[in-house]
Amino acid sequence: MKLASAVVNSFGCSASGERLVSAARDGDFQEAQALLEYNPRLARYSTFGVRNSPLHYSAAHGHHEIVELLLQSGVDINLRNYRGQTALMQACQQGHWEVVLILVLFGANVHKADYLNGGTALHLAASNGHSRCIRLLLADYIPSMPNFRDIMSKVTGDEESISEFDHRALSQIINQPADGGITALHMAALNGQVESVQLLLEFGASVSEVTVGDGTVIDLIGAGSTALHYAACGGNAKCCQILIARGASLTTENENGWTPLMVARSWHKGWLEDILSTEPIDRPKLTPSHYLSLPLMSIVQIAREYGWSSKSAPGCQDPCVVCLERKCAVAAEGCDHEFCTRCALYLCCTNRGTTFARGPPGSVSCSLCRNGIVSFVKLPVKVPIAKEIARTSLSLPICQCSQETPSKPTPLATQLRSHELCRAHDTPLGVSFCCLRLPSIIACRKTPDICHS
Ligand SMILES: [Zn+2]
Ligand SMILES: [Zn+2]
Repeated sequence: MKLASAVVNSFGCSASGERLVSAARDGDFQEAQALLEYNPRLARYSTFGVRNSPLHYSAAHGHHEIVELLLQSGVDINLRNYRGQTALMQACQQGHWEVVLILVLFGANVHKADYLNGGTALHLAASNGHSRCIRLLLADYIPSMPNFRDIMSKVTGDEESISEFDHRALSQIINQPADGGITALHMAALNGQVESVQLLLEFGASVSEVTVGDGTVIDLIGAGSTALHYAACGGNAKCCQILIARGASLTTENENGWTPLMVARSWHKGWLEDILSTEPIDRPKLTPSHYLSLPLMSIVQIAREYGWSSKSAPGCQDPCVVCLERKCAVAAEGCDHEFCTRCALYLCCTNRGTTFARGPPGSVSCSLCRNGIVSFVKLPVKVPIAKEIARTSLSLPICQCSQETPSKPTPLATQLRSHELCRAHDTPLGVSFCCLRLPSIIACRKTPDICHS
């Protein structure tokens, strides 16, 4: 009897699991939500042969709301499929940056390598030219500070860490080799992904890393090849120029004895002859990448700590002027314009370039005043009623009964008071509550004598 019931349960679970897989693949949020409410354990369901889990399907198809739903249901964020791929890798491969954002906010492991060729999410994003995904993957490694580019331009590679941030950790992740020593820069260069090559170089990708002949990959270019050898094979002139501007050598020979020019010739990329033949007299100065987005680390940290999608925020702040839905929770440093956390996150992810930003390269243009934002700060919890009192200038300056409360309340007292007053505002009983809190003020206006005494 027990066995029969187990079999029935197993079939039932399997049928529901398949329905969840379909919902995750097709983006049917309502269905996925209903199934998970019915049986939260379905989040851990995987298809026959561990092909893919619902998380993989929703990530690969860009359904970020379902990805968030599954993660909230307790699914393992770093779950692998039979190829060793995580949901983060699949989202990066397809360029679904909103999914990557959610996965990064939930703390997905960006270092995991797949079983096929040891490639990471960064390799997949780079080889497909998904620069927004690259930027998000590095959110925890690029500090939100105005002089980041200046510091990076002075880095020689020997430093373990620079006073402001851990340079070695950044260097490790950006130059992490897949099988055969292939870095993300090699992949972006081979596939002619100009913007990704530029972004990786900004973040310290090394132009001198070479591939190795470890027999794990079929290497038609040859072991010992630099990213410039790969760019020469790919045939994108702009990629070659950017790499050369960043110091890539024209004379490095790989283990076949080939220079980048010889690679270009053997792959019939005749248009690269001039670029790869002679060293430029003056290495051209690189323009900053459009995807630097310096404030990203600051807003990701705030979002992780305080949440990013709630429509309410503690302290009854003003509504966000961008979405008009959620309450402001963060302010841009510099211009002090306020946004909800989600809009600030999207601003950092979608902003392209620094053309209009009045700030250092990599700053993000404020939607309201075009100030260049380098970082966001969490808004302090406001006390709306205090503002109200200040605006209407009740008889506080005259009235001595304000001594009832300490002139400098402790943070805890402020929080408690703001919570009380806020709650009063949010309920129909708010007015009467205010009267209760401020009876002496009202009395004071009428009979100041009583109050002073
Ligand atoms: Zn907003
Ligand atoms: Zn502004």
